[in-house]
Amino acid sequence: MGFCLFNNVAVAARAFQAGFGGRVLVVDFDYHHGNGTEAVAGDGLSYVSTHAYPAYPGTGAQSYRRSDDLIVNAPVPVAGISTEGFVALWQYLLPTVARIVRPDLLIVSAGFDYVAGDSVGDLGVDVDAAAPLAAVIRDVAAEHCGGSVAYVLEGGYGIAALTRSIAAVAAVSDGAQPKSGTADPSAIPADVSQALHIFLRSG
Ligand SMILES: [Zn+2]
Repeated sequence: MGFCLFNNVAVAARAFQAGFGGRVLVVDFDYHHGNGTEAVAGDGLSYVSTHAYPAYPGTGAQSYRRSDDLIVNAPVPVAGISTEGFVALWQYLLPTVARIVRPDLLIVSAGFDYVAGDSVGDLGVDVDAAAPLAAVIRDVAAEHCGGSVAYVLEGGYGIAALTRSIAAVAAVSDGAQPKSGTADPSAIPADVSQALHIFLRSG
């Protein structure tokens, strides 16, 4: 229900599976919930997303399992989240989901409309969050997927923030270390982390 005629991420995931077999984890940090990707998850395609809620398209409140695959939704208040909290959320979420899913490839729905000041999204998150996000993605890909990760550009409607975010992702993917280290898990909103803990511990 976004601006995409084709769901590039889902097509890429299924093409990878058709060509090589294996499991794919789609990592979606776009401001909006990827309800189209969620709809096709299953059969070796898992999905993990942070998104504003309740906001367009109005989906993504719950996490659930579809046979062996996980759909993990971490809804974030529309009022926003601290940069520390957003980074800490991903530093917890992605390694935890990947340990359960054991993906062979990560495909990132790389939407930078979470950045503060974005004209469409805006979760109040600093543009510098892209570097630590890319670092946790890189490290999880190295641990589970032999380093295999693909980024597909999605939202992000301010050219300056988009440019800086993409440059940070490229640099970190090439091995640069982000300036910030591990974020403080207590910065994650309590209700968000509580719901995720319950779902991810229930197996
Ligand atoms: Zn978006």
